[in-house]
Order: sequence, then C-alpha cells, then structure tokens
Amino acid sequence: MNEAKQRGGWQTFRVSIPRVLRRRCPQCGDGALFRTRFELQEACADCGLVYRREQGSMTGSMYLCAAVTEIVAAILAVGMFLAGLGLYAGLIVGLLSITIFCFWFLPYSKGIWVAVEYSTDVGNREDWVDPR
Ligand SMILES: [Zn+2]
Repeated sequence: MNEAKQRGGWQTFRVSIPRVLRRRCPQCGDGALFRTRFELQEACADCGLVYRREQGSMTGSMYLCAAVTEIVAAILAVGMFLAGLGLYAGLIVGLLSITIFCFWFLPYSKGIWVAVEYSTDVGNREDWVDPR
C-alpha cells in the first residue's frame, strides 16, 4: 500500500483543500470539479472519483455556505454600526454585500464539502477512494 493510501482523514483533508479551492478533484488534483461556475461534475474525468454519490449529499455545503455568510454578515453589521452608517444605507450596503459574497462563496463551499466527504471516506477506508 502506498503512502497516500495510508493517510488518515485529516491528512487527506489538508491535501484536498488546496485542490478543491483551485476547483480541482480532491483525489488526484487534476480533474475539473465543476462543469459551470456553480454546477459540479458528476465524476472526475481523470481518476473517476464520483463527487455526488447520493441524493442530498450537498446539503452540508448549503449549511456551510449559510454559516459562513452569517458570520460575514455579522462582521459587516458590526463594521457598519461602528462606521455610523444609517439604517437604510446599512441595509442597502449589507444586502448587496452579502448577496455578492454568497454567490462568490457558494462554489467554494461545494468544493470544501466534496473534500470533507472524500476525506471522511478515506478515513473510513471506503473501497471507492484511491488517494494520490
Ligand atoms: Zn480526480
């Protein structure tokens, strides 16, 4: 068994995160993760890793995106309060900023979630993973 196959889930996660943030496969680092800006490929064209193995597997990415967006919104709200922005100006700036942030972050949250699931599978020594 090669060294990559003996990695645990956390070690695999540390290797996978830079790959998915570059929109690449968490397993091989070469295959494209996305078909379009927001739509995941079914599987990696290079190594065959299936990104969405079951219905509802991306629910975690929605929670991740929502949680990070709420943290950013809270930081933004405190910043606008400290800057003395009025209610309506704050609402307009806040809503626009959060909407833009959410659209920007959504693909990253999907990629991070694919890396979380993949790392969990490697840690559980599932048959279909082949760490590289
Ligand atoms: Zn791959």
